[in-house]
Amino acid sequence: MWKRNLVRGLALVTLVGVLSGCGANSQSSASKSSSSSAKTTKTQTKRQRLISELPKGVKSTDADLVVVNKWNKRSEMSFSKSSVNGIDVRTSIVKPLEAFMAGAKKAGYPATIVSGYRSVAYQKEVWSQSIQTYENEGKSAKEALKLTKEYVAVPRGSEHETGLAADIMNTHWYNTHGNQLLSSSDKNKGQQWLIKHAPDYGFVLRFTKSGTKSTGIDYESWHFRYVGKKSAQFMTKHNLTLEQYVSLLKAREKAAK
Ligand SMILES: [Zn+2]
Repeated sequence: MWKRNLVRGLALVTLVGVLSGCGANSQSSASKSSSSSAKTTKTQTKRQRLISELPKGVKSTDADLVVVNKWNKRSEMSFSKSSVNGIDVRTSIVKPLEAFMAGAKKAGYPATIVSGYRSVAYQKEVWSQSIQTYENEGKSAKEALKLTKEYVAVPRGSEHETGLAADIMNTHWYNTHGNQLLSSSDKNKGQQWLIKHAPDYGFVLRFTKSGTKSTGIDYESWHFRYVGKKSAQFMTKHNLTLEQYVSLLKAREKAAK
């Protein structure tokens, strides 16, 4: 009897593995009434189609596509930094970032770069300060850690340490909302312009509403990440997170071997 349960359990694990390993958004295409295996096949077909359409000449190992998240932590990276509007970023993205800001201004929506490169040491500070603040508010150590995990990227797990990410807000909205980063800023036309046009400059909105499971981070209407134009346009067109996109690139590279 236990053996049968074990086999059933393994089958379930395998199926879940296939579904969760899929880079594509399975929710939109899979119908609820279809059987699990049909759903899996459909998802795999969509994945195959996406792989075949991936932009040429892009590799999962490209420096612009480095994935840093709570599952892929990185120690301090070494690269040259330069300042754009007083904010440090990786030197390689200065031109596209300046063009993005100039584009926003020209469209009538001047934007503010709130944050760019952050060192691992700084992220550690932000992390412990957050825990301290919650504890000072009377929360238990356990609660303080839980709340901090929800809102602050773990040290060595923040994309800001790549120098390829920037928190960008419509200046007017930012100044009239207490200089806060709030997802409701996406109601503002200027923020909408940034989100819509980011791919034209090689950036993507990194933490989308539909991508929270894949990124491990809640929706953020202000966090932009440089990935290069080809990748940004493909990711946006197919609503892929960076994690999902890189997974597809890896699959293409594996198949080519
Ligand atoms: Zn950010």
